[in-house]
Amino acid sequence: MAESVRSVALLGATGSIGTQTLDVLRRSPHQFKLVALSGGTRTQELVAIAREFNVPLVGVLTDADAKVVATELPGVNVVVGDAGLDVLARSADVVVNAVVGFAGLTATLAALDAGKRLALANKESLVAAAPLVDQVRAQRSTDLVPIDSEHCAIHQCLAGADATAGYRSVKRLLLTASGGPFRTKSAAELRHVTKADALQHPTWAMGPKITIDSSTLMNKGLEVLEAAALFGIGVDRIDVVVHPQSIVHSMVEYVDGSTLAQLSHPDMRLPIAYCLGLPERLDQSWGAISFTDALTLTFEPPNREAFPALDLAYEAGRLGGAAPAWLSAANEVAVEAFLQDQIAWSDIVPVVARTLDVFDGEPLTTVEELRVHDQNSRRIAAKIVAEL
Ligand code: NDP
Ligand code: MG
Repeated sequence: MAESVRSVALLGATGSIGTQTLDVLRRSPHQFKLVALSGGTRTQELVAIAREFNVPLVGVLTDADAKVVATELPGVNVVVGDAGLDVLARSADVVVNAVVGFAGLTATLAALDAGKRLALANKESLVAAAPLVDQVRAQRSTDLVPIDSEHCAIHQCLAGADATAGYRSVKRLLLTASGGPFRTKSAAELRHVTKADALQHPTWAMGPKITIDSSTLMNKGLEVLEAAALFGIGVDRIDVVVHPQSIVHSMVEYVDGSTLAQLSHPDMRLPIAYCLGLPERLDQSWGAISFTDALTLTFEPPNREAFPALDLAYEAGRLGGAAPAWLSAANEVAVEAFLQDQIAWSDIVPVVARTLDVFDGEPLTTVEELRVHDQNSRRIAAKIVAEL
């Protein structure tokens, strides 16, 4: 019997996850057909990808970019902006959302609404929109699989566990964290770190936003909220353990004392391939461990005093509603301000904390409300940045 070909839409194709997804697709040309693409500012890279994979539908951010793509790729259908992302996210069997930040929201909601498989790298949209995603899930079955390596590990370790009644057999989820480039620094030493230091991740090569988030441990905080939203498990059943080698990608501890873990060398192409292939495993090996050389795995608790982002995220998770959306939006503003040399590294998390202090607890039940929350948090965070 001929293998059926799955169509794939890749949003954020020009980024770190985007280009690694292309690597996976190149290795399995008979199983997948790339039918839709989007990028941001790197339009020439986007055109090159569309050409290589002969993609009929391309999304860009501006009308000017649309003209460039239409000229370079005659006959290709070009869509623009958020409305374009909505079209793309409904156009394929599998939607890989590798956009960075809240800009990924439209694609996340559209793919779920259209009943497509959502292979989700864009954690910010799930963190912010968790109550809305819950609404969709209550109405119909959805196919949401996480590319984020920790959550992909947990997805694998939960295979066979009964999801009903909130995973009763699961005691806790254990998210591993590399600890980032500043793992061994004290709070006093952290006052003097530079942008170049913060952009040097010890184990993963990623886009700038998540690299900075990893240096503050806000990435792990967002991942706690992401795990709570994905698996329907409260934040107080989720723990973080620092594991500097990034070999154990996360773990699930069951009520009988057994802990399951997923291991590989760090390579995002493994979780990407897992999400594309499910329920099959693709026959392309990424990060396999030989076990012929000595391998040391160490674990330690996170330094919560030096990295307050973690407790801030737990606090937002306990508040629920729009609090995670506020946390994530304020963090985007603070990280951007840091990358633009407007604030120091040690200001990033205080900006988020001070923004959350203003959080008004207004409900979050619609997309329109979410957009208002996002704007309010950004406005307050920007004001705090300007005052620093
Ligand atoms: P990058 O910055 O490398 O790539 C982001 C992609 O999104 C690019 O294609 C960019 O376009 C596009 N983009 C940027 N802004 C917008 C916008 N406003 N509208 C539409 N598209 C936009 O990020 P990463 O690949 O590192 O991360 C992507 C997501 O995956 C993030 O949510 C991150 O947290 C998550 N993730 C990433 C991991 C990694 O290893 N990189 C690991 C786990 C999760 P362009 O470059 O053309 O401007
Ligand atoms: Mg991760």
